Amino acid sequence: MGKKTKVGKTRKDKFYQLAKETGLRSRAAFKLIQLNRKFGFLQQSQVCLDLCAAPGGWMQVAKQNMPVSSIVIGVDLFPIRPIAGCIGLVEDITTDKCKQSLTKELQSWKADVVLHDGAPNVGRNWLYDAYQQICLTLNALKLATQFLRNGGWFVTKVFRSKDYNALLWVLKQLFKKVHATKPSASRKESAEIFVVCQGYLAPDHIDPRLLDSKYVFEELDLDAKKKSSLLHPDKQKRIKAEGYTAQDIALRNDLAATEFLKAENALAVLQGIGSIRIDDDRIAKHKKTTPEILECCKDLKVLGRKDIKGLVQWWKDVRELFVKKETPLEVGKSNEEEEKVKPLTQEELEDMEDAELQTQIDTIMDEEKKDLKRKRKKTLKTKAKLHEKMNLNMVIKGDDGPVEEAEHEIFDLKNIKTADELDELLDVQPDFSVDESAPEQAKLAKYKYFDKDDTKMNDDLHYEDDDDDEEEQSNASDDEANLNKQGLGLSDEDDDVSKGKSKRKKRTENPLIKSSDFRDKNTKREQRVQLWYEKDVLQNIQSDDDEENYDLDNLAKEYKAKGVSVLGESSTLAADANEEVVKGKKAKRRARHQESKESSSESSDSEDEVNKDGEETNTEAPVKKVRLTESEMALGAFLTRNKKTRRDLIDAAWNRYAFNDENLPAWFVQDEDEHMTKPQPVPKELTAEYQRKLQELNVRPIKKVMEAKARKQRRATKRMAKAKKLAEKIMENTDSTNHEKSKQLKKVYKKAQEKKKEVTYVVAKKQSAARRARRPAGVKGRYRVVDPREKKDKRSLDAKKRREKGGKGRKGRK
Ligand code: SAM
Repeated sequence: MGKKTKVGKTRKDKFYQLAKETGLRSRAAFKLIQLNRKFGFLQQSQVCLDLCAAPGGWMQVAKQNMPVSSIVIGVDLFPIRPIAGCIGLVEDITTDKCKQSLTKELQSWKADVVLHDGAPNVGRNWLYDAYQQICLTLNALKLATQFLRNGGWFVTKVFRSKDYNALLWVLKQLFKKVHATKPSASRKESAEIFVVCQGYLAPDHIDPRLLDSKYVFEELDLDAKKKSSLLHPDKQKRIKAEGYTAQDIALRNDLAATEFLKAENALAVLQGIGSIRIDDDRIAKHKKTTPEILECCKDLKVLGRKDIKGLVQWWKDVRELFVKKETPLEVGKSNEEEEKVKPLTQEELEDMEDAELQTQIDTIMDEEKKDLKRKRKKTLKTKAKLHEKMNLNMVIKGDDGPVEEAEHEIFDLKNIKTADELDELLDVQPDFSVDESAPEQAKLAKYKYFDKDDTKMNDDLHYEDDDDDEEEQSNASDDEANLNKQGLGLSDEDDDVSKGKSKRKKRTENPLIKSSDFRDKNTKREQRVQLWYEKDVLQNIQSDDDEENYDLDNLAKEYKAKGVSVLGESSTLAADANEEVVKGKKAKRRARHQESKESSSESSDSEDEVNKDGEETNTEAPVKKVRLTESEMALGAFLTRNKKTRRDLIDAAWNRYAFNDENLPAWFVQDEDEHMTKPQPVPKELTAEYQRKLQELNVRPIKKVMEAKARKQRRATKRMAKAKKLAEKIMENTDSTNHEKSKQLKKVYKKAQEKKKEVTYVVAKKQSAARRARRPAGVKGRYRVVDPREKKDKRSLDAKKRREKGGKGRKGRK
């Protein structure tokens, strides 16, 4: 598992997050991202010089974080991966050629930031590598002094070694501020540290010795100064972990704990060693030897001032007890020859007690001091804040701002809930009398402030407060609030309250608040239902239907224009035919009844449509469908046309071919039918006309269209009826609040709307166009196969029409 950072995220999580945010993957890139997040040097820069840039992680980060128009130039011994908007040079940063190449690229420009992440080929030996790296850094600094603008940034990696302080010193001579930091992306075990130098001073003349590695790292003896004190190094606030000296690395420099405890000056001993080895069980088991102390003992070089102090304290504590116990033994040992053990004198014991007491006093005083310091800091901070506010005129001296006064509550009508309370208030004697005109002001308090937070629900889900009507109204959602405004709200104020309750209400309700709604319960309810059905959503249901019906109507019209008859329409040819057959009102109704029966046998759906008309109700058993031939239809028409034709037809039946013989052989009947018949007096034209009409009807089954339309309407009506029922139920439900009711109603509307069937358009392919198209794979529901040319053709047709129209228009205008 990765180590947890302060915020509880593991390092891994952090890097994963960074990688997700930036799209970068390299640890090197993360280091620069973290440095930039801390100091923000990239956002302020236009020109960036990246020394030792391969493979290019830093360059990418620079490009991502710098303004769009910025320039990034990278230099490395090896080719750098090409990055959009960046220039890569293959040069050795220690050479003059590199300087020339950079001058060529930059011309007269100066860099705003110089980055350096150089590391020479490492692996020879640590000391040598560290020295090489620090020399490379000095070379990078040298280049920076030549190309960096005044006030620019220099960011470099350094290995902590004995020369590190010398380099810091040089950097401090050239920059306003020098920050040494180790981003979390850098491995803890690594001796690398990053130095961010802010505000290049750009001196007119730089002493060349300052940039000469021989001079800087050999002549400056900072170590002597450093050794002066571990606890107070140059009055620095915090001691810095400074890595190992050459001597430290070369030798395993540890000391036995017993030796350390015996030492006279703990600080001096700690200065010269790398770790403390616990070599005695008594020391390890000592109560003062905490795990933290054990951890500190492992590596003294990485300890800060606080840890060193802790170790010194531990030395004091353990040593005293240790020495106390040890002393008799040691003394015994050393005086073996004398064979005499000297016990501690009273004075010595007192001294030791004093010393212990003294340390205790010291710690208490220390803590007190710290406490005082913290308090002082806090006060200063508050003062500074106040000062700032005063400067901004946010606070005026002596003005504490608005303060809630208890007396104001007396004027707050929300506290008056009943008539009794109001009376009580009116009875109160005034503390002081006012002018005669004053009562006028009292009258002003006409309205009562309503606070919904003050109400509670009882077990019956009613508001306990006597003003529940008003509260329910305010609880309703926005649209209901609008309805309430119109006096048609969904609030069930009247319904909810039982008789007894309403009586109580009358007695207790605030007489100052009068309802302006004088409608009775039923009227209110009817109006509410009416309003619900007038909602836009319900209108849409109808209009959606109409849209599809419109298509069907169009289709029907189209057919009609072509001379096709539409069943069920009185004006159609089919009806005309019936009219021809049956004259008068009675005959017409009978004909329609016949037709409805026919359609009922074909489709049960259309049955409802006939019922809906209300003219006839289909209570009889379904009749078997009889299909008349065209000649039979013509005969029927002839039979019913007028009395004369009817009589002629009947007369024609009495002829010489007509016999009424029974039990004749079949062959005789057949022969008689063929040869012994008198042609009927029905004109051939009439038969031909019916033949034509039937043909048209068969070709274009408009009846089907009408049926579909009827089915659709029936479904919509059913859905509407269902929704209506549901809505009524919801309205009657006293358990749910108005808000809930409105939500449920919305849901019901939504369900009541018919979903439009979506049509998928499939473009026909060449190979499948000839064949009858099968359902294409992956296409569900309705689909239409379209020709790829269809769109183009339609477009050109439209354009042609427009052209023609335009031409006519122009001509017309002429
Ligand atoms: N910052 C780079 C990145 O984000 O991808 C990684 C730099 S890598 C740690 C160190 C680079 O320093 C190597 O690519 C190496 O070639 C380069 N280097 C070492 N000595 C150099 C020199 N004298 N001149 C130029 N580049 C050098």
